[in-house]
Amino acid sequence: MNNEKLSLDITFLFPNTMSTYGDSGNILALKKRCEWRGVEAFIHYSDIYDSIYSSDIYFWGGGQDIAQEIVSNNFSQQKIDFLNNEVEKSKVVLLICGSYQLMGKYYIDSNNKKITGIGILDVYTQSSPKRMIGNTVIEINTKIKLKIKKIIGFENHSGQTFLGKNIEPFGYVKLGFGNNGFDKTEGALFKNIIACYQHGPLLPKNPHLTDYIILKALENKYGLSVNLQELDDSLELKAFNTLLNRFKI
Ligand code: GLN
Repeated sequence: MNNEKLSLDITFLFPNTMSTYGDSGNILALKKRCEWRGVEAFIHYSDIYDSIYSSDIYFWGGGQDIAQEIVSNNFSQQKIDFLNNEVEKSKVVLLICGSYQLMGKYYIDSNNKKITGIGILDVYTQSSPKRMIGNTVIEINTKIKLKIKKIIGFENHSGQTFLGKNIEPFGYVKLGFGNNGFDKTEGALFKNIIACYQHGPLLPKNPHLTDYIILKALENKYGLSVNLQELDDSLELKAFNTLLNRFKI
């Protein structure tokens, strides 16, 4: 199947209300790595008062406690049902930190207020007095077939997330805190949801993860005959390996 006939719709959820941690670069990375292969990428935006455009990929970033409370208080049952339905249709969802927490059952915030989550992910989060901030290296769960088995990132959260019985971690911490600083897990996997605490340029730093997301979305939309042509990632991988060496991982 040649790529110029392919396209992907990507919806960026709560881009204004939950935009504190510079996660919007992930949308650019997805768009460019599609277009460099002749795959058209249409970006849609959906904040609190907008409907959600049915897409192939959903991206939702992080936010402060107050932003999470606002989103939670304004999340309609219609939107919850819509997202549940999209997840059941194996649509790809990438969640970063605050949205990861809100996709779970609840988040007890830094004022000990219980913020109700959507409940799609079997996780819960409890704020901790100690913020978990710094560079990260994560060994990815082998359920995700990545060319490179590690990702590098940056975390900044007070929430400690604990996984339920019916959910797998996205990966395991080699550097940093991850979900909670205790059990060495990082993030969560459920159907085609990838949830993690990796802020800022997660996808620009990890082209192999970007391509995994694009491929899963194309396979889900067009079937398994899709092949993703290789790109020259020499510069990205030079940066990736420089950081890995700097972290001595
Ligand atoms: N407010 C949440 C916390 O502090 C999420 C932060 C974030 O999205 N970086 O854990």
